[in-house]
Amino acid sequence: MKVATTVKLYESNFHPEYVEGRTVLQCRNCMNPETRICKECNAQFPIEADDIGFYEKFNVPAPVRCPECRSRRRHAWRNERVLYRRNCDLCGKSTVTIYSPNKPFKVYCPPCWWSDKWNGSDYARDFDFSKPFFPQWQELQLAVPRIALLTKNSVNSDYTNHSNNNKNCYLSMGTFDSENIMYSTNVLKPSKDCMDCYLMSFEAGAELSYECVDSLRIYNC
Ligand SMILES: [Zn+2]
Ligand SMILES: [Zn+2]
Repeated sequence: MKVATTVKLYESNFHPEYVEGRTVLQCRNCMNPETRICKECNAQFPIEADDIGFYEKFNVPAPVRCPECRSRRRHAWRNERVLYRRNCDLCGKSTVTIYSPNKPFKVYCPPCWWSDKWNGSDYARDFDFSKPFFPQWQELQLAVPRIALLTKNSVNSDYTNHSNNNKNCYLSMGTFDSENIMYSTNVLKPSKDCMDCYLMSFEAGAELSYECVDSLRIYNC
């Protein structure tokens, strides 16, 4: 039992520690509360006791970047509202997309991406355990087609992203089940005739509203 525990500790990069005659999952060297220097921006950031419990639960090492740099890296994956023109890599027609023309990805316009003209399972492949993970992941990223804009079931709403079931919406992101919405973000419940609004509530929509923030059930505001 003691041997198995020790092997697990080494595999997870935690330094085993001998306490009262037994090995425990604890590392006094690198998993104590401390202040670290971010390797990206050199800012100081704390590793709290609660953080260590979380890292041990998921068996991962403590971070080497500050929370802001980690957040920046996560958000680099999500371009919500910078739009470009480029040609669909399936039908060849010009389309609006979050991918600039110089990006190496295969980008399909929404009608092509949702169509039966291609089959996602054609891109399935086995993982090669003799090679590192990230190069294989990059190959997959470059091969699998991406949807130009994440939209579904919308009418006359070509300049929307992360949005579904809309009609006559323009430059509105994260907008759902709504009609005649312009220049707004996170219109989360069915809304109508709104402009320059942000974060219309999770609970109910809005109507005839202008420059409203974090609002619900509003009319003519
Ligand atoms: Zn940083
Ligand atoms: Zn297309």
